[in-house]
This record gives sequence, structure tokens and C-alpha cells, in this order.
Amino acid sequence: MVFYPPSWVPSMPSPPDSISIPEFIFNEEHGRVPLSESRPFFTCGVTGQTVSPVELKERVDFLARGLAQELGWQVNQGSEWDKVVGVFSVNTLDTLPLAWATHLLGGLQTPANAAYSTAEVAFQMKDSGAKCIFTCLPLLKTTLEAAAKAGIPKNRVYILELPDAITGGAKAEGFTTVSDLVERGGKLPKLESLNWQKGDGAKKTAFLCYSSGTSGLPKGVMISHANVIANSLQIASFDNFYRKTIPFTEGKRYQENCLGLLPMSHIYSLVVICHVSPYRGDGVIVLPKFDMVQYLTSIQQFKIASLYLVPPIIIAMVKNKAALEKFDISSVKIIFTGAAPLGAETADELSKQYPSWLIRQGYGLTETATVVCSSSGHDIWFGSSGSIIPHVECKIIDPVSMEEITAYDSPGELWVKSPAVTLGYFKREEANKETYITDSQGRWMRTGDEAVVRIAPSGNEHIFITDRIKELIKVKGLQVAPAELEAHLLTHPAVADCCVIAVPDDRAGEVPKAYVVKSNSIGLEESERMTKREIARHVEREKSKHKWLAGGIEFIDEIPKSPSGKILRRLLRDKDRAERKKQ
Ligand code: AMP
Repeated sequence: MVFYPPSWVPSMPSPPDSISIPEFIFNEEHGRVPLSESRPFFTCGVTGQTVSPVELKERVDFLARGLAQELGWQVNQGSEWDKVVGVFSVNTLDTLPLAWATHLLGGLQTPANAAYSTAEVAFQMKDSGAKCIFTCLPLLKTTLEAAAKAGIPKNRVYILELPDAITGGAKAEGFTTVSDLVERGGKLPKLESLNWQKGDGAKKTAFLCYSSGTSGLPKGVMISHANVIANSLQIASFDNFYRKTIPFTEGKRYQENCLGLLPMSHIYSLVVICHVSPYRGDGVIVLPKFDMVQYLTSIQQFKIASLYLVPPIIIAMVKNKAALEKFDISSVKIIFTGAAPLGAETADELSKQYPSWLIRQGYGLTETATVVCSSSGHDIWFGSSGSIIPHVECKIIDPVSMEEITAYDSPGELWVKSPAVTLGYFKREEANKETYITDSQGRWMRTGDEAVVRIAPSGNEHIFITDRIKELIKVKGLQVAPAELEAHLLTHPAVADCCVIAVPDDRAGEVPKAYVVKSNSIGLEESERMTKREIARHVEREKSKHKWLAGGIEFIDEIPKSPSGKILRRLLRDKDRAERKKQ
């Protein structure tokens, strides 16, 4: 049985597939709120620095001209794969403008998580074929090491500026900044427009974001212009329903400031915050990183109405009630959470403290660029990920029989069809065949998540994500691929075999734990000297912090495997759960 959006979900025309993202964002004929009536797209949450939407449009245009000259790129020559711009930075005011300038040149952006280690950044830059890399001052050293490893010359490393309050006023001497390129571009002639044919927007990659998918190592997900445009329209149209009906609109078009704290390298922030908000005239208050006091200060100062969060931040809020009470955060109306499950108990506790807040949950993936379902402001059911948004279809497949599940409350793997389902993994044909399935009903994405459909007290169908079938671990909403950690652990001479699983964690949601079989090849003496700490350090030296083995290391005689050699991960998950119950 295929599940569709409930009948109250507004219908919307098919999203355009022939325009580029900057055309969609800046040109009023594509339905956006007029630039003159929009709030500034991005405002620094630390200093208040901003530019008007009209000025920003010009900044993007000048930046594109400056970039074209600097890199020797011509607008309609070559493909987007000749013009890959890497970004490794915390959130800045120019992160999205840089992406849009790159798009005007017919290029694409590959954003790496600011928490990444040198090796992780180098892998992404090399794998994507990045021609240059933009970073911020605090990450310059890591970037230069990664660029060298990825074969990107030092003169192709550029700087995204941060406020002095973050950098302590230091400058990256000898490096070209985005502002330098904008200044240069302002003196250069206008660029030609993209000469796209019908449908090109659905074929050309705009962003290459990394995800490990249902198994294996991180892979570049090819996100087209049309994917981002479609999901932005799907979300805006879905939200319009309750934005028009709840009292705070006072009959006017509802506009707000929202929080831009989550990493712009991740699809959630990239689409839901950084594209939907400017399109509907909202302002994004940009913060480079999470700090409870700075976060609460910005909410108070900028009268932020919507907080886009991940569950660990909500948990921190629930645990720090006293800190919250010191600030005037009465502007907050909506909490939106995604990227990992938010327990009904946590939502309930927050709502007891702030009963007027609408606590909404959305579910999505990098591969579905982004939202598949979301709770609407008028139909909230804690624990649920809400209703299917317009133009999305879902089915639930029994993982054993591969039959479609037709009954409510019966778990199976969630499959998704949407104009925002991405083009596939870059250069990974096997993974594409396993993940993107075309059948008589169309092209589906297998999410690797277990879900059920339940009927809410409102009478609407709601999606609940009940478990994860795939190997992925989510630490504070960030991906950790067990296969990546296992491959790294096996490079330690003391590790003969291993398996990494997710274990629950109060603050991070989940953390990785390793089961390790000690190597026979090392002598008894060495084996005894070998400590869990040494293996943990082996991970800490190479991998970013959220991938560290915070769930511990347990020695085991043998990793359970199927006759074909596949790790039986579920057996170790069950073993860990049973041990936890005993404690
Ligand atoms: P990413 O591609 O990093 O966004 O990760 C996508 C995965 O995050 C999904 O396949 C889910 O496993 C998990 N996820 C995202 N949103 C939710 C949610 N609301 N509830 C449960 N899991 C979620």
C-alpha cells in the first residue's frame, strides 16, 4: 500500500526542473516573497552584521564574477564536475552566497563537516574532485594539511570570514577572502547566464553532501538543483497550512527570524534552514557553533521565533531549565527537530516548561534532500515524525518477504518517492543499485529505517520511525559509519577482527561501541600490555570527535558472522542491550 499526504495537506504544482537554485532563490517569478519585503537572508548572531536581500543578490553576482576570474572558469563551458568547490568551515554569512555564486558559474559545492579531521576532509575533497577549498581561520591549519593530501594547491585555499569575536581579530595573511573576490568581481563585466535546456535542473548536481547510506563508507550524494527547489517548495507549501491558521499570523503574511545554528554542511540546515527561510522571506540568524549562553542571548536579541534543533540540544535545554529562565525567550513559538529521533518523554518535558511552544519533528535523509514527513503546527503527536509532505509517497516493505505492508502499526522498511529523491551516489554503482530502486510505481529510495504508520488522535496518518535497520550510527545528529571505524580499527596490529555498533547515550542520542577480537599475531606480553585505551587513541588520532568510541571497547572471542561472512550486528546489539538491562 502506498501512503500519501493527508487530505488537508495543500496541493502544489509540480516543482520546476529547469532553473538553477540562485534563480529560484532570487527571482520573484518563481514564487518567492518579494526581495523588498523579505528579511535579510543571513544575519550574524554574534555581531548583528547583515546586508539586505537586494544587496545580497549583488554580492552573489560579484562573487561569481570574482570566482570566475580567479579560477579561470567560463559559465557555459565544461560540466559541474569541472567546477567543484570544497567548503570546510563553521557556519558563516557567506557559506550559502558562495554556493549560489558557484551555481551561477555552473559549478557545485561539496560541504564537509567542520568537525572533520585532516584525513576526513582530504578524503572528501579527493573523492569529489574539488578544485579549490574555502575554509575559515580556525580551520585553516587542518585545511592546508588536507588540501596538500588531496592535491589542491595552497593558492586554491580561500577564506570565509568570521566575526572578530570568534577569531580574536586575527587575519589569514596571504590568503584571498570572499570579500576580496566580491570586491574584484564588482569591477568585472557581467557574466553570461546559464544556457540550460528543459530538465537540466533535474540532471545537474548542485551539492555533493556525504552520507554512508545503508552501509559502507561515506559516499557523495548528488543533490540536483531541482531536488533542493522541490523540497523547499514542498516544505513551504506544507507549513503554509498551519502558518495561516494559528493565531500568531494576525491575518498578515507570517514572517520570522529563525535560528541558523546547525551545520550548513548537513542537508537539514542546507535545505530546511538556508533555502526555505530566504525563499519565504524569513531571516536566518547565523551562529557558528553551539554555546548555551550565546544561543540564548541570540534568541533574546533577535527575537527568534523558530528554533531548528537536533535532539541533543533539546535534551540540554531540558536539563538546563534554570539557564533558560535567565533569558527572555518569549519570542520562541516553534521548535523543529530532526536528524535523529526525539523521544516523546523529552518533548513532553519541554512542553511542560513552555506550553505555548509548538514542538514539531521532521524526518528526512541526505538521500531524500531532505524532508519526507513532518508534524504540522496544528497536528502534533509527540514521538511521531508527522505527516507526509506534498508530492511524497511512502511505502513500508517487509524486509523478509519484500511485500508491501498494508496494515497500520506493522513495522517494515520505509521507501520514499519524491521529486527531492537525489540523483544517486557519485561513482558508486553498487550502492546506487541497492538504494535507488525503480519499479512499476516509479523510482524509490530505500531509507534503511524501520517505520510504522499510525492513526493519530486527529484522525490523520502519522509516520513513526521505530528503529534503524541500516548500519548508521547518529551521534548528536551527525553520521558515523560503522564500516569506516571498523576499517580503521583493523589497521591496528592488535585488532584481529571487530564490529562497531550504536549504543544509547543520554546526551548524544547514540555513541559507537567496538567489539574487538585481539590479534593472535602479537605476543602474549604485548597482548597484555595492549589496553583498550591504546585502541581508543588509534581512533582519536585519525577521526573526528563524534566518531570516538565513547560507548567503550569490549573484547570478545569471535565476531558473529553469517555463512557468507556478513557481520551479524544485531546479535551484538542484542548482547549489549541484555547487558545494559542487567546493570
Ligand atoms: P542524514 O542523512 O545524516 O540526515 O541521516 C538520515 C538518517 O537520520 C535517517 O535515515 C534516520 O536514520 C535518521 N533520522 C533523521 N530524522 C529522524 C527522525 N525524526 N527520527 C528518527 N531518525 C531520524
